[in-house]
Amino acid sequence: MKCSKCEKKAVYYRKFEGQWLCKNHFSKIVEQRARKTIRTNSLIEHNDRIAVGISGGKDSLTMLYFLNKITKRRKDISLFAILIDEGIDGYREHGRKTAIDYCEKLGVTLAIASFEQEYGLPLDKIIKIGKKTDKAVKACTYCGVFRRKLLNDTARELGATKLAIGHNLDDEAQAIMANNIRGDLMRSARLGAKALVIEDERLIPRIKPLRDIPEKEVALFTMINSIPADFAECPYAEESFRWSVRDMINTMEEKYPGTKYSIVRTFDNLLPTIKEKYTGGKIGACKRCKEPTSNDLCKSCILREKLGIL
Ligand code: SF4
Ligand code: ZN
Repeated sequence: MKCSKCEKKAVYYRKFEGQWLCKNHFSKIVEQRARKTIRTNSLIEHNDRIAVGISGGKDSLTMLYFLNKITKRRKDISLFAILIDEGIDGYREHGRKTAIDYCEKLGVTLAIASFEQEYGLPLDKIIKIGKKTDKAVKACTYCGVFRRKLLNDTARELGATKLAIGHNLDDEAQAIMANNIRGDLMRSARLGAKALVIEDERLIPRIKPLRDIPEKEVALFTMINSIPADFAECPYAEESFRWSVRDMINTMEEKYPGTKYSIVRTFDNLLPTIKEKYTGGKIGACKRCKEPTSNDLCKSCILREKLGIL
């Protein structure tokens, strides 16, 4: 099959648009989409110092590739990467090596922080302790809270004005649907291309340049452009609630192409109303660690207290 835009051989069929694309046009369109997301949501502003959260996987390294390309000639913008080593045996090591090598190749400074250094234990051990008191507890519950905090802390300590996260269209659609199923609109208020609930200098605004690009397009872009990403899945991913939501949305997308875009676009229309209802107000400080929270203790301290690792 030929590319719908030129005479070259097509490598990809955009089902929801009915378009065949060659390598060049595919890459061009994906890059244009990321640039559009950045531009229309003002994700990058003058004098920004951007911390790029990377794992060594396809999403984060593709994001780093785009951000580096877009900002490298901007004298007013600086960029560095942060990798969080959760301590997942047999999984994180390879991603870590890939991330270190790629940052070196691009000339981007990389800061590494680990659960073991910060919390005293790797995730593998944390989950073992957690399961002793609650067999149903999932690794992602601990990992999500601890990683978010460590990323924010590290970005802030290194003077970042923005924290870039490699969430793609699938991730965003899954987060929206997961919150809808749980009935947690307060959590949905934190979604969007630029996610910040409350203006607070302790919280670094999170930006998502890949938010409008489907996961499989990110994967193909990575391969076509020789970005050396690690494609391994986290061994804990399948046990998560998000995994079931992901299966459900993928089944719908297969039957009804464009489902993921519809979920995200519909949500974007509702987001201002959700934000109005669930954001604003004052945010206090955790009694233990002084991190921002609207409760007495932050989520990280609550979990650490339960685990007995405070
Ligand atoms: Fe952490 Fe869960 Fe992601 Fe694995 S799948 S890295 S445990 S959040
Ligand atoms: Zn705390």
